[in-house]
Amino acid sequence: MNTSSAPDLSAFWMPFTANRHFKHHPHLVAGGQGAYYTLQDGRKVFDCLSGLWCAPLGHGRAEIVSAVSAQLSTLDFAPTFQVGHPNAFELASRIARWAPQGMNRVFFANSGSEAVDSALKIAIAYHQARGDARRVRIIGRERAYHGVGIGGISAGGIAVNRRTFGALAAPFVDHLPHTLDPQHMGFSRGQPAWGAHLADALERLVALHDASTIAAVIVEPMQGSTGVIVPPLGYLERLREICTRHGILLIFDEVITGFGRLGANFAAQRLGVTPDMIVFAKAVTNGTIPLGGVIVAQGIHDALMHGPEQMIELFHGYTYSGHPVACAAGLATLEVMEREGLIERARLLEPVLEQEVHALRDAPHVVDIRNIGLAAAIDLAPRADAPGARARAAFESGIDAGLLLRFTGDTLAVAPPFISTEAQIREMFASLREVLRRVS
Ligand code: PLP
Repeated sequence: MNTSSAPDLSAFWMPFTANRHFKHHPHLVAGGQGAYYTLQDGRKVFDCLSGLWCAPLGHGRAEIVSAVSAQLSTLDFAPTFQVGHPNAFELASRIARWAPQGMNRVFFANSGSEAVDSALKIAIAYHQARGDARRVRIIGRERAYHGVGIGGISAGGIAVNRRTFGALAAPFVDHLPHTLDPQHMGFSRGQPAWGAHLADALERLVALHDASTIAAVIVEPMQGSTGVIVPPLGYLERLREICTRHGILLIFDEVITGFGRLGANFAAQRLGVTPDMIVFAKAVTNGTIPLGGVIVAQGIHDALMHGPEQMIELFHGYTYSGHPVACAAGLATLEVMEREGLIERARLLEPVLEQEVHALRDAPHVVDIRNIGLAAAIDLAPRADAPGARARAAFESGIDAGLLLRFTGDTLAVAPPFISTEAQIREMFASLREVLRRVS
């Protein structure tokens, strides 16, 4: 690193980061253009995870820059409590056009975490509005990541995220089993054929708690943060059927899968299952300005539109819900995705990524590989007594090889920008093979 221009690293308490380690071995990103970042020492690295699953269009998109800049000089901020501005309405309409039929009401938040909490609150408010006030229980799933709000960690299923905050977690939650079983689905390509029956665990939770206490089931259609866990064929269909039969709402958390990651607008369309709500964030603005939200089936929204017309229907919202600058970034992002056919492009690149990632099967340390859309995970065998150390070493070695990788535990995840070329994707995997060879 170029220490002469390095900032003082001590004050910024970094999120989800080993702070002490980072500050002894910092990697600072100075710029981004297309599918590459430039580090402060001048090295160029391929952005293997599109930022943090955020930037399918790549970095430095002129269309977003000019939309944001124009918006800042026209209307930098206006509240959306009791007044409105055109961008928020336009973006909501556009998102509704991208969503499955009948899902046409959009509530804005500023992050995935806020959007998850919004969806859970809408579910509970919906049942209450229909006179079903006992339905307050939320069913999540093991290994799920739904952000870090109280609702999100309650429904989430990653043990380390919950451990410290157990006392804050909502009391009325339970969890489905996760669907990863390498014995039955090792090295699967796309949706595994085995595992639809795992959805029947929901019937057991219904029998245990009684349907009349359950407001909603929330799942990531593809579990992203925990390592690209792809739903078995028939699994989501079965969850849908059980939810419908028992009057339970089904929420898809599409913070990672929304806006094209699986080669369709939403995972709901790719996987052919329509939920009652879709949570989104990240790619909606290409990661440029924070924005999240919930797409709600019209019937749920309409059930809440009751009482005197001058009364607020849902006591929930954020100062920055539908922020004009974030909405300008969202409109520009979706416009570019449509104009350049980037979701079709993601779909066309999927077989390239699938072929290349599975070719790593014989690379050192690899114990499992999974993929769908433009996303894949590679599980490495952990070092004895040092879980996570091998993937961290791969991350460090990746930077030397021109790759910005993402690791959690001993899993490496890749999800390149949709604008990547076939050659760039092949090159990413060739470099990754070299990295795995070098890592002990
Ligand atoms: N839900 C899912 C599925 C996510 O992957 C994430 C973040 O990665 C979140 C929610 C939380 O989003 P944020 O970090 O924007 O709060």
